[in-house]
Amino acid sequence: MAQEDVFKKIVSHCKEYGFVFPSSDIYDGLGAVYDYGQNGVELKNNIKEYWWKSMVLLHENIVGIDSAIFMHPTIWKASGHVDAFNDPLIDNRDSKKRYRADVLIEDQIAKYEEKINKEVAKAAKKFGDSFDEAKFRETNPRVIANQQKRDALHERYAVAMNAMNLEELKQIIIDEEIVCPISGTKNWTDVRQFNLMFSTEMGSTAESASKIYLRPETAQGIFVNYLNVQKTGRMKIPFGIAQIGKAFRNEIVARQFIFRMREFEQMEMQFFVKPGTELDWFKNWKETRMKWHQALGFGAENYRFHDHEKLAHYANAATDIEFHMPFGFKEVEGIHSRTNFDLSQHEKFSGRSIKYFDPQSNESYTPYVIETSIGVDRMFLSVMCHSFEEEKLENGETRTVLKLPAVLAPVKLAVMPLLKKDGLPEKAREIIDGLKFHFNCQYDEKDSIGKRYRRQDAIGTPYCVTVDHDTLKDNTVTLRFRDTMKQERVNIADLNGIIEDKVSIASLLKKLQ
Ligand code: ATP
Repeated sequence: MAQEDVFKKIVSHCKEYGFVFPSSDIYDGLGAVYDYGQNGVELKNNIKEYWWKSMVLLHENIVGIDSAIFMHPTIWKASGHVDAFNDPLIDNRDSKKRYRADVLIEDQIAKYEEKINKEVAKAAKKFGDSFDEAKFRETNPRVIANQQKRDALHERYAVAMNAMNLEELKQIIIDEEIVCPISGTKNWTDVRQFNLMFSTEMGSTAESASKIYLRPETAQGIFVNYLNVQKTGRMKIPFGIAQIGKAFRNEIVARQFIFRMREFEQMEMQFFVKPGTELDWFKNWKETRMKWHQALGFGAENYRFHDHEKLAHYANAATDIEFHMPFGFKEVEGIHSRTNFDLSQHEKFSGRSIKYFDPQSNESYTPYVIETSIGVDRMFLSVMCHSFEEEKLENGETRTVLKLPAVLAPVKLAVMPLLKKDGLPEKAREIIDGLKFHFNCQYDEKDSIGKRYRRQDAIGTPYCVTVDHDTLKDNTVTLRFRDTMKQERVNIADLNGIIEDKVSIASLLKKLQ
């Protein structure tokens, strides 16, 4: 089956089994916004718990915070988001498609380069070993003409972008006769500046209201609290601050389900280190984070690092952890060495000193920061994509099963009375009452046992027990395992011992030690 079809199936499975719904579904949804259903929220909470505990339980020098979504607007000036989190946008009136004006022009520049390269390749083939490429480029009239057009366009574009001259960007698109790849027309709107941050107003009256932003990343809440935490927690460098929370980006091209959303959740940890040691810590965090992913057992071949060659001006190293999704290897987590850029900017804009005094070396400095930043929703998607299986059974039937790591599964144990009478339901509930304080159990009495098993397979429940008439006599039940579908007769008293360790976050955390 084509990977695209697999992905479509996963999306509809998510909806059908209460994992993810389009937001405002009865109003036909809201672009790139999603709600998590009864099973989705459990899975998501388990992912968050795994991350949180791996940070704050396993590292005595990492603590957590929960900062507000609304923050002082100057924070986003200092971080660069007000000025640099912008895209110049243009719409084609016929196709109603929206494009980034800079990307359209860059594509046009690339077209000139392509024409030149084609000419050169043609000539190289024609002249063979005697071909002098430099001379050809200098003398061939078609190459010269295209090179001049390319250089003139590049120059004009660079000036327009530096000044963010939106009229000029549009004029370039018109002069270059750039057409919409979908409609093929030149029916363009004006270019508008588009900041990816959502804004709203705080204050009761129009006059007193001030413009504030919905945070586009959770990291800044950590930076501005860094000294509060350091002082009140008597933290010594190196130390980290972890946070899980919502972030908002008005993404232009929002697609691929929960891969690119406008409201999403991040799990970020900023690790504050002594200047000069950051690249060692960067390496260290790369390894630690990869281990966290791989402990889930999805296979090392499904992960890779993508080191950035082009770095943001404030970073001195950056990599992504990519996961093999049905639509290719895609970024799930970013690990960045952000130097002291953010803290220095906040020092400058707030006018407060946020330097760290190092009692060991007797000096004050602005710490450098290693950041690990992972999207909860992308992580959720990678777990779903890897776990979803349509399995051909020996009897020719197909079963849809979510082979979720038991630790992440929304429901750990389903308890099913064979019949809805003879005291079997009461016995089943008694079993749940004994286990519900340990892990998530579900009672299910509707339909045949076979159908009930399939229902639990589809939501990834690793264990099912069936209560029958023998149970009333000898306190044993049939325990069925999701992945092998094998069944065993076990004592009710042994259930907790068999299941609890396999489904507890602690068992996963132990793999990280
Ligand atoms: P991309 O290049 O895919 O837009 P990014 O490099 O802008 O991502 P970061 O700013 O590094 O992403 O954010 C860290 C993490 O937050 C990403 O690795 C991803 O898991 C998550 N994330 C970022 N943007 C979105 C989004 N629109 N929807 C869902 N998750 C997101």
